[in-house]
Amino acid sequence: MSRERMDYDVVIVGAGPAGLSTAIRLKQLCAEKGRELSVCVLEKGSEVGAHILSGAVLEPRSLDELIPDWKEKGAPLTVAAKEDRFLFLTRKRAFRLPTPPQMNNHGNFIVSLGNVCRWLGQQAEALGVEIFPGFAAAEVLYDDAGRVSGVATGDMGIGKDGNPTANHQPGVELHGRFTVFAEGVRGSLTKTLFERFKLRDGIGPQTFGIGIKELWEVDPARHEQGTIIHTIGWPVDWETYGGSFLYHLDANQVAVGYVVGLDYKNPFLSPFEEFQRFKTHPAIRPIFEGGRRIAYGARAINEGGFQAIPRLVFPGGAIVGCSGGFVNVPKIKGTHTAMKTGMLCAEAAFEALATDGPVGGLDRYPAALERSWVWEELRRVRNIRPAFQKGLYAGLAYAAIDTYVFGGKAPWTLKHHADNESLRPIAASEPIEYPKPDGKVSFDRLSSVFLSSTNHEENQPAHLRLKDASVPVAHNLALYDAPEQRYCPAGVYEIVRDESGANPRLQINAQNCVHCKTCDIKDPTQNIVWTVPEGGGGPNYPNM
Ligand SMILES: Cc1cc2nc3c(=O)[nH]c(=O)nc-3n(C[C@H](O)[C@H](O)[C@H](O)COP(=O)(O)OP(=O)(O)OC[C@H]3O[C@@H](n4cnc5c(N)ncnc54)[C@H](O)[C@@H]3O)c2cc1C
Ligand code: SF4
Repeated sequence: MSRERMDYDVVIVGAGPAGLSTAIRLKQLCAEKGRELSVCVLEKGSEVGAHILSGAVLEPRSLDELIPDWKEKGAPLTVAAKEDRFLFLTRKRAFRLPTPPQMNNHGNFIVSLGNVCRWLGQQAEALGVEIFPGFAAAEVLYDDAGRVSGVATGDMGIGKDGNPTANHQPGVELHGRFTVFAEGVRGSLTKTLFERFKLRDGIGPQTFGIGIKELWEVDPARHEQGTIIHTIGWPVDWETYGGSFLYHLDANQVAVGYVVGLDYKNPFLSPFEEFQRFKTHPAIRPIFEGGRRIAYGARAINEGGFQAIPRLVFPGGAIVGCSGGFVNVPKIKGTHTAMKTGMLCAEAAFEALATDGPVGGLDRYPAALERSWVWEELRRVRNIRPAFQKGLYAGLAYAAIDTYVFGGKAPWTLKHHADNESLRPIAASEPIEYPKPDGKVSFDRLSSVFLSSTNHEENQPAHLRLKDASVPVAHNLALYDAPEQRYCPAGVYEIVRDESGANPRLQINAQNCVHCKTCDIKDPTQNIVWTVPEGGGGPNYPNM
């Protein structure tokens, strides 16, 4: 069966803040300049927002630029940031530290980024953008000259054995004069573009954290709408980069999460368990006691910053948002920057498509980016995250000097190391004893995954692929006691053995995956490749 073909001026992959801002800006320019361009957005989640997981405190700078009357248009930015608290935790105590200037949230809003994306999706559709939720872009299409000409969605109805089932439907080809990749952190197609067009050659490695988040409805007596709390210190040790966020939304809801830098060294560390025991701290537990956990999920976050930004354009398209990086790590914010990259890319694409003749490239986009506030904002904080490679105390000391003495203008740039190369062998590592979950404020993985409402068609080839099936046992188990059992926040990877305890093998429970991409990042030999499952599969986050 051949694939259906659809043609657009611009095809956008991913309906996150970056992709939707690209689409909206393109259509705004069309309206302003009296020109018609066809624009579509593909989204692998069952609906816009279903796969969005963020903190989130939103800095509205880009939204102000994109849709200045967002308030009148009903944008879900209703909880203004009121008070920032920055705490250093020891096992038993919490010490309040001065809030670093980057963490001052005056003028920002506590939001559900999923709901913001749902609203942006409506704005885009009202301008004439076609959005296709449930469509996962599985393959990049190239023309005869090697230029990207669009993407294709995967076939539906391919069985576990790789053969078509009775429900087989071939994928769809979406061709665009430009294709914009807005897949968010560790985009699976973007990764292939990095290789094909050598977009990362000569650029430092992108680094990441894993963010695990829960949404709670808490006792009204414990709720302080607009309060923003960040913690560092316990439960992770001094050499591990990690910290929590606690954002008091409205309706007695609190978003709580924990981020662990994926350059952690101890293979026994479990980001999930660190998060669970964080909530048992005497200063934190009372917030959640008597409350109800509503949702759970996880997502990687870029931490490479300025020095990890790849080349963003290639023949036929460009990369925007977190697929390219752009998180301001000391601020823990990447939404405003992701949106701005999308807007600048849209402006470049609009200009390039201004005539009906053959289109050139999108070089105007990186040029405009380098002149924009995004560039300056990220350049100023570029040394803060890499300074934490020397541990928490050295990192804090360096961050203070970089901020207060150099004002972000130190005449050097610190380097990053690739996250997959950081693990120490078990022989050189201390095992970590995690407490059993109490079922009140701390929980196990499976009951947590249940709250992500993740769902995948069972009869399909696993979307988590191993380049070499022998590596999990021969290398990962032998050297690191199979760290994928611990870093996966959804219990996807399990070492199973015969009844006698012999014959260990890796079992992949792919249906549990919440699409955080951590395995694709942290696997020591990069043997695990995350690919898109059938469209619509994955978490169904209500308002994360
Ligand atoms: C735990 C955590 C806390 C954070 N807190 C904050 C915060 O408080 N403030 C802030 O500003 N930022 C925060 N961030 C960062 C922020 O969420 C990101 O910078 C932002 O979401 C990036 O937007 P994006 O559009 O580039 O990517 P995303 O938001 O990741 O959106 C990408 C979209 O593309 C879709 N997609 C991916 N691949 C495909 C494909 N092949 N086919 C079809 N669809 C695809 C995805 O399903 C998703 O919907 C946080 C991130 C995390 C993980
Ligand atoms: S399998 Fe990989 S992408 Fe899926 S939840 Fe686990 S670590 Fe995340």
